[in-house]
Amino acid sequence: MRIFDPHIHMTSRTTDDYERMAAAGVRAVVEPAFWLGQPRTSAASFTDYFDSLIGWEPFRAGQFGVRHFATIALNPKEANDPRCRPVLDLLPRYLDKDAVVAVGEIGYDSMTPEEDEAFAAQLALAVAYDLPALVHTPHRDKARGCERTLAVVAESGIDAGRVVVDHLNEVTVKLVRDSGCWLGFSIYPDTKMTPQRMVELLREYGTERMLVNSAADWGRSDPLLTRATGEAMLAAGFSDDDVDKVLWRNPVEFYGQSGRLDLSDVDAAAAVDPQTGNSILRGGS
Ligand SMILES: [Zn+2]
Repeated sequence: MRIFDPHIHMTSRTTDDYERMAAAGVRAVVEPAFWLGQPRTSAASFTDYFDSLIGWEPFRAGQFGVRHFATIALNPKEANDPRCRPVLDLLPRYLDKDAVVAVGEIGYDSMTPEEDEAFAAQLALAVAYDLPALVHTPHRDKARGCERTLAVVAESGIDAGRVVVDHLNEVTVKLVRDSGCWLGFSIYPDTKMTPQRMVELLREYGTERMLVNSAADWGRSDPLLTRATGEAMLAAGFSDDDVDKVLWRNPVEFYGQSGRLDLSDVDAAAAVDPQTGNSILRGGS
């Protein structure tokens, strides 16, 4: 099973995670810029963070045979902090980089006027830089947050097929399905979405435009829940090809729209033994 985790915060994870992910079939990840838990007090703090997302973290991932890409943005929560707003002026420098495959995470946290403004400004940047956008939806008041999100996306003029609306569940899936945007689902140990519930949604809505991620971060989360979802799909009667579409080809197609998703070295990278770092030949697996 080859797996592309389209949303995971590896900065917050250990090398044990990289080892287990590589062993489970995770060959590529996208790490969106997000809130680190501790509020940042200046834009300079973001510069170091963004640099690590396109420098240090891809290097760390590469040691385990995992290809690492990033999305860059001012996250919804810190969009409310006036000390962080100047980050918006730093973004163009990063949106030009080859390792950056989308603008994100953008969207709403508490749906404040400040978030409105940062969200719209960053969708405009996605259009200007011809990049897809990764849109976070709020964890509270989900249906209303999702409706408003889709209205702002439509208003921005960005092609719906270049937007993924993330952290969906049974309440919001249909709304996003009908909008033409891609659908992101974060599989969590005890909140958001479970592998079993995900399988039910795939049964009902099919596999088109569906993205499954672990969204693993500094909170209680599990980077292997992408794999667990693939296993649950197989157990429910989905084919290997269905699993490959959801866990590999869909994220490749979505982020491939950036024109920067170079996966040419992934098969070679997957042939590096995560334990020893030695090159090994692994047949066609
Ligand atoms: Zn996230």
